[in-house]
Amino acid sequence: MKKNVLIILCLLAAAGLGGLCTWQYLRQQDSLEALAQSQKQTEETAGKVTELEETLADREAYIKGQEEYVSELSSQLAALEALGEENSDEEETDDGEEEDNPYQYDYPELYAQAEYDRRHPAEDDDEEKEKKTAYLTFDDGPSSLTPKVLDILDEYNAKATFFVVYKDDEEYTSYLSEIVKRGHTLALHSYSHDYKKIYASVDNFLADFEKVYDWVYEETGLRPTLFRFPGGSTNGKRAVVDEIVEEMERRGFIYYDWNVSSGDGSNLTTTENIIDNVTSTIGYQDFPVVLMHDGPGKNATLRALPTVLEMLTEEGYEFETLNETMKPVQYVRKRRTS
Ligand SMILES: [Zn+2]
Repeated sequence: MKKNVLIILCLLAAAGLGGLCTWQYLRQQDSLEALAQSQKQTEETAGKVTELEETLADREAYIKGQEEYVSELSSQLAALEALGEENSDEEETDDGEEEDNPYQYDYPELYAQAEYDRRHPAEDDDEEKEKKTAYLTFDDGPSSLTPKVLDILDEYNAKATFFVVYKDDEEYTSYLSEIVKRGHTLALHSYSHDYKKIYASVDNFLADFEKVYDWVYEETGLRPTLFRFPGGSTNGKRAVVDEIVEEMERRGFIYYDWNVSSGDGSNLTTTENIIDNVTSTIGYQDFPVVLMHDGPGKNATLRALPTVLEMLTEEGYEFETLNETMKPVQYVRKRRTS
């Protein structure tokens, strides 16, 4: 009797233990499932964050593009206004006296060899006058678009000038040498392309410029003479930019503006707009310097380029690079009165 009770007790204990194990096992399964679920959720959230970050980067690039376009437009406008004032102003005489230059001991390597007897190619001789030449310029590269731009230019036997912006990317940096190898002119635009920073003072501008100058020199062994101000030369605080111009010219650099705008600075400009902007206005200039961009996202420009080259070639244009012997296209700057 006692033995039977003991067996029953044992059986009950075993059943209880089994139940407990099963319950524990099920609980473990539940928590594993919950863990997997929460891992999935974390992954989904991370995916969403990445997506949002990409969208944000796109939006930021878009806004930056629009800001530059507005700057370029205001630069052109300021130049036109200055032209009006210039016409009504009396010629101002040079003070003649050499003042102490506060920058002359800074950036000792930052000098270029510019020739100062510069002429428009069209002024050269009659034969040159017959020839129609367009000077295409590309700002803000190198980018993933640059090799494609180079291939299209090759197809039309066209040469161009590239105003480059520093890129922290080995692949893009290697395009600098490619630009030179294909016979184009390498010119400088900016290191940071940060308007607020570079136009805050002459020193800020020179420090930024030296960095892009060194980057190009390290990659290509070349020391470019030509440069373009981000947003054009009439951008930024006038007094500061006037001083920058003076100092950069003293160092032998030549800045270039443009007189034909493709309008591709704006992200809203379509391929058709670009073709129309260039081909309908180029005829007004005897030394047409065309503003285009090969920076990130300028796909409309890439799509427009073959048609632009095709149409202008049919009109008898040839495409050459800018160089330091030419009289540059520069916006008229209001003279300082101090
Ligand atoms: Zn730019």
